[in-house]
Amino acid sequence: MNIEGTTKIVGIFGYPIKHTASPIMHNEAFRVLKLKYVYIPFEVKPERIREAVQALIPLNMTGVNVTIPHKETVCPHLHEMSKEAELIGAVNTIVVKDDKLIGYNTDGHGFIDSLREDGQERVEGKTLLVIGAGGAARAVVTQSALEGAGQILITDKFEEKAKDLADNVNKNISPDKVKVIHPDEVTSRIKDADILINATPIGMKNSDPLIVDQKLLTPPLLVFDLVYNVGDTRLIKIAEKQGCRIVGGVGMLAYQGARAFKLWTGREAPIGVMRRILENMFN
Ligand code: NAP
Repeated sequence: MNIEGTTKIVGIFGYPIKHTASPIMHNEAFRVLKLKYVYIPFEVKPERIREAVQALIPLNMTGVNVTIPHKETVCPHLHEMSKEAELIGAVNTIVVKDDKLIGYNTDGHGFIDSLREDGQERVEGKTLLVIGAGGAARAVVTQSALEGAGQILITDKFEEKAKDLADNVNKNISPDKVKVIHPDEVTSRIKDADILINATPIGMKNSDPLIVDQKLLTPPLLVFDLVYNVGDTRLIKIAEKQGCRIVGGVGMLAYQGARAFKLWTGREAPIGVMRRILENMFN
């Protein structure tokens, strides 16, 4: 990599950051398009996130991605936030423009883009059943509501978390769009769903149990598993064997990165290149 005086700097703030796939993905995309950018991982302790974010301006950086545990805590230190980021309450991409810090959230767009391109499916008018109401679910559910999903059913081990997300979407986007269900109701409600989304970390270990009873995975259900670190999860393999349409988490990761790439460079990202890098890393 040739770093010159004119090379633009982007990166990622997280803690820990050692396992991030983003530097390899973005640096390869810059190389293929011959763009003079470099993407660097920064391990930023939670108590130093304000200083790190504010340093983006004097260091003349183009922007950064933001990952766990900083996605929510960066928000008060930004000058502006996109509508999606504001509604989600979390930022995964910062752009520095005219000495201002602007926050975006591309995770939900990554989900929608991957569903469309990899699953040949759209959320408009569809019923979604989402298991898990953590950070990833917040982005997926909020963006799906913005894009016109019909009904969104959500469940979490910790019901308050699901309720908080539902209240936020129902109040700020569309009344009654999101309904909280008890984990025990998944069995009876899955037949109402067009798309089942695993937004829990279950499946990240090959020894993890299946998130729903295998008998419930029948066509025409589309199963979208956000987990990406093990290639195809057990959920994806079994759903495919039973004839469901399936989408794994790698596409979403590539598409959220592609959106950030465009925000920083103004160029369409080489999505095929980015995706291949991730597939090589996680398969
Ligand atoms: P998170 O903040 O920990 O949220 C996961 C939520 O699921 C937690 O509230 C957890 O509850 C709940 N949960 C766990 N097991 C459950 C079960 N059996 N039934 C119902 N709820 C359950 O995690 P996250 O950041 O949202 O990430 C979730 C997964 O998505 C991870 O595997 C992550 O790698 C993946 N992800 C993928 C992408 C992508 O681009 N593909 C992007 C972001 C995240 P407790 O806290 O009580 O356990």
